[in-house]
Amino acid sequence: MQPRILIIYTGGTIGMIEDPITKTLKPFNFSHLMENVPKVKMLHYQIDNIQFKPPLDSSDMNIDHWRHIAESIAKNYDDYDGFVVLHGTDTMAYTASALSFMLQNLAKPVIITGSQLPIGEVRTDGEENLITALQIAAEKHSDGRPMVQEVAILFENYLWRGCRSTKRSADHFNAFKSNNYPYLAKIGLGISYDLDALSRNHGRNLKLNLGLDTSVMCIDVFPGLTESTLRHLTHTPGIKGIVLRTYGAGNAPTAKWFTDAIRDTCERGIVVFNVTQCVNGSVHASRYLAGDILSTCGVVSGHDITFEAAITKMMHLFALNLSHDEVIRHLSVPLAGEMTITDR
Ligand code: ASP
Repeated sequence: MQPRILIIYTGGTIGMIEDPITKTLKPFNFSHLMENVPKVKMLHYQIDNIQFKPPLDSSDMNIDHWRHIAESIAKNYDDYDGFVVLHGTDTMAYTASALSFMLQNLAKPVIITGSQLPIGEVRTDGEENLITALQIAAEKHSDGRPMVQEVAILFENYLWRGCRSTKRSADHFNAFKSNNYPYLAKIGLGISYDLDALSRNHGRNLKLNLGLDTSVMCIDVFPGLTESTLRHLTHTPGIKGIVLRTYGAGNAPTAKWFTDAIRDTCERGIVVFNVTQCVNGSVHASRYLAGDILSTCGVVSGHDITFEAAITKMMHLFALNLSHDEVIRHLSVPLAGEMTITDR
């Protein structure tokens, strides 16, 4: 039987064309995109599509779009072997992270891809990315189980876990990377999968979590951050959770005004999640006094989670109407393979 794949086209550079007057790139429709990749027919797959109207520059992506993608996958889940989401690169890692929490217990591939150059350009990376994404979405083990059973980003030479990925380059074709988790597959002459890195579903049914609560924000520490700025930010009305982006292994200023402001924030019931500003490595809160103090204030370690996964995990958890302690308990453990716990 021909593999059946559903493409969800949200927009992004892959489908853009140049405005003849302003010369800026604007999203264009799905038929334009497919006309530029006639080779897709050589795959002999049955491909259907759902198209965002209008297609978006992914800078405009919001939680309603994420719900639309997740719902489209859940509604069509039994009818397709796999799903390919065509998406702009700018917020691709956020969408991949959000979908990882929204589509719980996935047993089929959700492969997100896009391109750095529009599909109509001679040197486009879009054609190769689209074709490889389709092939991965159709790939099965010899016993018929889907090879990929999670949300993943396919870009140029690598397949990455979605909730571990970050956009690392605005220029390079290899635009994504998972700095704290190995690639799921390497793409060269063939597609070579890392079976140990891929996630496996153990017979659980798909659970769709459409709730997302945007009462979250981020604070970056930097030398020069003042008490009044920190107090102002931590008193943002309606906020339930803060991703605190710290130095190195999860360190922040030890000055009393800083720790008092953070302790007071935690005591007011706001969840503070410690994520390192480093592109690689993990929070080890007890390694330095500067990190240990944060833990004693009530700050939760984000271990080696990406910012994209941290902020979307909070949105997901706050929407579940959990108690404050339950949110902290769930934040502290991996829910979709988004972090590795190396210390406590
Ligand atoms: N601005 C574009 C987008 O994210 C960039 C891209 O697709 O590469 O939609």
